[in-house]
Amino acid sequence: MEILIGWVALCFAVAAWAHSKGRFAFGWFIISLMLSPLVGGVIVAALPKVGKAALPRDEAGQPITDQTHVRCPDCRELVRRDARKCKHCNTALVPQ
Ligand SMILES: [Zn+2]
Repeated sequence: MEILIGWVALCFAVAAWAHSKGRFAFGWFIISLMLSPLVGGVIVAALPKVGKAALPRDEAGQPITDQTHVRCPDCRELVRRDARKCKHCNTALVPQ
């Protein structure tokens, strides 16, 4: 019985950890309950954080956000806000 309580408590710990990484806590609770809290914990540990860390980055390693990039009106690719020419389709752009 103690093992079962410990098992569920560890599953809660994995769920709380997953939640702190921006993941779906209940889903990870169920996964841990089914497989084992150890397996769930290892998978959560390997997962990257959701949120700011998951932002796409340009080739210079800078995060791409609404403040730094706009969508090209022609090809819909993301280009730098201060660009005068789209690097994907060479359309002339008006820097914003
Ligand atoms: Zn373009």
